[in-house]
Amino acid sequence: MRPGPSVVKAPVAARVTMLGTGTSHGIPMIGCNCSTCRSSDLRDRRLRPSIYIEVPERARILIDTATDLRQQALRHEIARIDAVLFTHAHADHILGLDDLRSFNALQGSPIPCYASRESLDVIRRQFSYVFEGPMQIGGGVPQVTTNEIAGTFFIRGIKIVPVPLWHGRMPIFGFRFGNFAYLTDCNRIPDESWGLVEGIEILVLDALRDQPHETHFTVAEALEVVQRIAPRRTYLTHMTHDLPHARTNARLPEGVELAYDGLVFDIEADVA
Ligand SMILES: [Zn+2]
Ligand SMILES: [Zn+2]
Ligand SMILES: [Zn+2]
Repeated sequence: MRPGPSVVKAPVAARVTMLGTGTSHGIPMIGCNCSTCRSSDLRDRRLRPSIYIEVPERARILIDTATDLRQQALRHEIARIDAVLFTHAHADHILGLDDLRSFNALQGSPIPCYASRESLDVIRRQFSYVFEGPMQIGGGVPQVTTNEIAGTFFIRGIKIVPVPLWHGRMPIFGFRFGNFAYLTDCNRIPDESWGLVEGIEILVLDALRDQPHETHFTVAEALEVVQRIAPRRTYLTHMTHDLPHARTNARLPEGVELAYDGLVFDIEADVA
């Protein structure tokens, strides 16, 4: 991890694309006939959770290599990834890692990946063929470099603040970029992290469903977090089929809505 420059210049415009807003099964769920899974509203189709952040002339950053990475890259014509940040190493957030091969071929270089030490350990185990070398070259393996997150860091001058969160008993990272934070897969924000999300204007926040869950916020719990952080706009993510898009949106307070796959919005990233 390179220590970043400490002087932060004026923020720059950046764009976030929600590549996937579903829970780990994706929506529709295999074999499910519920009204959300059978809905004709495209916003009810949710791939596995991931976002893409473009900071023009600086970097394109992917958060998590979701199971559906290939489909997400094709849908949004993503042809460049300068870095990958991992929130944690659950299957839905890492299983697309093999698809980074395509970007290696396009870019001709390894892709730097950033994660906690715990997440890197899991990723190295799950993808042992990447890190220990394959039996034979075959279709090739992703070329990545691993960087342990240990506090605020910079990618091509873009300031990234890791926000420690609790995902059940698992410590994971959310990430803040200037006036925006992406807080997925969490059911508790530790005391020391509230200060890190102060002044956020645009928030993406986990809200699994209405029923309580051991590792994710419910909609009601997410709304309590929204009240405390008080962003201008909040998009909820990582939803199960219990939350149909249109009907759920209709009962959310002003300034809060469900994210959907393909949603694009602008943020201001801090740069050095
Ligand atoms: Zn369903
Ligand atoms: Zn998870
Ligand atoms: Zn997840």
